[in-house]
Amino acid sequence: MLRHLGPLVHLYLSSLRIIPKNSDFCAQRINIGDVMPVEFYFFRTFDFVNQRPRMPMTQITDADRRFMQMAIDLSVENVKNGGGPFGAVIVKDGEVVATGTNRVTANNDPTAHAEVSAIREACQRMRHFKLEGCICYTSCEPCPMCLSALYWAGVSAIFYGNTKEDADRIGFGDDFIYREIEKPYEYRSIPIHGMMRNEALEAFRQWELKDDKIEY
Ligand SMILES: [Zn+2]
Repeated sequence: MLRHLGPLVHLYLSSLRIIPKNSDFCAQRINIGDVMPVEFYFFRTFDFVNQRPRMPMTQITDADRRFMQMAIDLSVENVKNGGGPFGAVIVKDGEVVATGTNRVTANNDPTAHAEVSAIREACQRMRHFKLEGCICYTSCEPCPMCLSALYWAGVSAIFYGNTKEDADRIGFGDDFIYREIEKPYEYRSIPIHGMMRNEALEAFRQWELKDDKIEY
């Protein structure tokens, strides 16, 4: 009940300026023990006013333009080679470490986006699972998967060429994934169910006991 009323309550309270306009209504389900799901509701706020932007103004250099042009050239070339219109370049200390293009249909690999392909190659070349100090230049604003992968890789910065909206216009929209992430599980288009939590926790228990684990 509250779940359905929540957005309306939020709208009402934000119109009265009781809660900020840049907040939204959230419903979160947590499992207590293994069986009892409990839902709690809250208004989530991001403080855009007091939060200092991490990169307020980036001076784009000639080198940045050169690497972005490389990513763009890869994206154009890839269309001719049967791939999707996306290219990415990973650079460290002014040197190209790896490049990637979209090979989803060519390789029958839904994860073969340009950025992920470039991350895989860069990590192999650098023999490390982190890309610290690396910059990713990608011809298109990253999708949720690639953005996540870039965060997991720990790159220092991301530059993109065309935008999510541009991609959406030619049939490569990824906004639905961002919207799905926001939704409670029971509202998502792909059913997702928790089960056998205690059994699945066994690996975590062993991990915690392990002395020689490589943390990341
Ligand atoms: Zn992607």
